[in-house]
Amino acid sequence: KAGRRPLVAGNWKMNGLRSSVSVVEAVRSGLAPALLDTVDVLICPPSTLISSCVAATYGSPIAIGGQNLHAKPSGAFTGSISAEMLADLGASYVIVGHSERRAYHYETDDGVHAKALGARRAGLCGIICVGETQDEREEGRTLDIVRAQLAIGVPKGATGADTVIAYEPVWAIGTGLTPTPADIAEVHASLREMLGRLIGPEADKIRILYGGSVKPGNARELMAVENVDGALVGGASLVAEDFLGIVGAYA
Ligand code: PEP
Repeated sequence: KAGRRPLVAGNWKMNGLRSSVSVVEAVRSGLAPALLDTVDVLICPPSTLISSCVAATYGSPIAIGGQNLHAKPSGAFTGSISAEMLADLGASYVIVGHSERRAYHYETDDGVHAKALGARRAGLCGIICVGETQDEREEGRTLDIVRAQLAIGVPKGATGADTVIAYEPVWAIGTGLTPTPADIAEVHASLREMLGRLIGPEADKIRILYGGSVKPGNARELMAVENVDGALVGGASLVAEDFLGIVGAYA
């Protein structure tokens, strides 16, 4: 839309052993070549599988990304992984501020901002996630919440090359529930307007994905919504056939 190339991104979360690389191989062999002219495809496996997924997609346009990073390039941060380390493995994207990180690892908007800067420093494209909880939606605070998350999280000078936004209502993740197309359109329009205030005309180049219970059966309808530039897919990205069905919504 408006010249933005759609992106369909899979987030495997904490799922997958070495044998799961076969899912990436199946996605690779199942993708119609014509689709890859139309849509960018990204898989974010656990970091333990990044190397082998990069090898499995070598020579194909399928990108591999991380699910999280530490903001600093290196140091005494036991168990953490930096953007430089992800890039060194061949990752080209990283998810930043997923709602599960915010909920279970107490990530703040300021922390998301620092991580997005870390991603840019290492040449990764950061996928910054925003979204309201069920209570926030019921209280009519959705737009206030996601606009504030965006305003704090997105670094100054963000570009279409280094930044993607994902709108993921927390109550729609892994639940089978989705907002109506009209509700998604309202949030995405508001996010794009806010991006314009933050970074000016470059806002039109930044892709805004929708995430939350995207499945092959609803992908076409969700992807057709104005200002929706692709999908961030959790559960359905673990099954090659389902993930391919969602990418196929752009056929
Ligand atoms: C996600 O975790 O980013 C997500 C959208 O999950 P699901 O597709 O399973 O709702």
